[in-house]
Amino acid sequence: MSEILVLVEHVDGEVKKVTLELLTLARSLGTPAAVWAGPGITDGAKARLAEYSADKIYVAGADEIVDYVVAPKAELLAHLVADKSPAAVLVAATTEGKEVAGRLAVKTGSGVITDAVGLGEGFVADQSIFGGGVNVRSKVSKGTPIIAVRPNSTAPEAAAGAGTEEQVSITLTGSARAARVLERVKQEKGARPELTEAAIVVSGGRGVGSAENFSVIEGLADALGAAVGASRAATDAGWYPHQFQVGQTGKTVSPQLYIAAGISGAIQHRAGMQTAKTIVAINKDPEAPIFELADYGVVGDLHQVVPQLTDEVTKRK
Ligand code: FAD
Repeated sequence: MSEILVLVEHVDGEVKKVTLELLTLARSLGTPAAVWAGPGITDGAKARLAEYSADKIYVAGADEIVDYVVAPKAELLAHLVADKSPAAVLVAATTEGKEVAGRLAVKTGSGVITDAVGLGEGFVADQSIFGGGVNVRSKVSKGTPIIAVRPNSTAPEAAAGAGTEEQVSITLTGSARAARVLERVKQEKGARPELTEAAIVVSGGRGVGSAENFSVIEGLADALGAAVGASRAATDAGWYPHQFQVGQTGKTVSPQLYIAAGISGAIQHRAGMQTAKTIVAINKDPEAPIFELADYGVVGDLHQVVPQLTDEVTKRK
């Protein structure tokens, strides 16, 4: 079976969950080969990639792969596309992943699909476009299919792969060196999962009422092991940091479960969450548009409903 390249997302030597999802997806369509860009691969990371079916692990461990912004990763993948003729290249549909995909498509003269939420036989992708307003089925018709897949589109499943390591060395072009990274500032890693990767997201909107009241949303999120999100009304009011905003001008999330509390369901909010597998809405207005989208809805005051839900979840743990 032909090789499918998966660009590994990693932080501090740890493989991120979205990579395990992409390897699982790649296994259903061919032979997964992981591509590790930058220094710092550990034995643990190699074992993890092999555990999730990576047959090959291509390692480009030179510092300069991560010394410049994004472009070297596209050059690395372009080199591997020319050298290994893979059946497809999968990257995570994160901000960086999508930029890598676009640059790689230009370099290889290939078609690219971003924001895929499913991928089937022949690399036919289900794609969420126009801010989530339209779903289309698409297929790359030229070159090597390059597909950016949203986190949480597939459940990761372990299946042993050979994990054979192969070192890759490339000479970066001048254009890959166009923008240099000067400093990396580490974000404090909170106890909660990262918003765009979380399997469960609990979001609060204007209905939450104040910054202090967001503790109600955080309480439920912590009981469920979820990330916290917020509508723009809540972030603009300064109740929750902007980095947690979900929607057209915020983050796009595709969790297994999305709980929207005190959020009306404006089109710009839906754009960031409507590909969630199951949507639960808690709103005191039975006419709120979010109920058109919700799989389950509770009409009620979130300040009563959410604490009860938190207690119930905590009791069952
Ligand atoms: P509201 O629309 O005011 O809704 C609050 C809801 O809470 C109501 O339905 C109400 O019934 C309910 N409620 C009130 N009190 C309670 C209670 N005690 N218990 C239960 N329910 C209660 N918005 C985003 O979210 N993300 C974006 O990325 C984004 N980008 C935008 C980009 C542009 C260019 C524009 C123009 C707008 C954007 N918006 C975005 C704003 C968007 O249009 C909405 O204004 C916003 O999503 C509304 O947030 P909300 O649902 O929290 O507030």
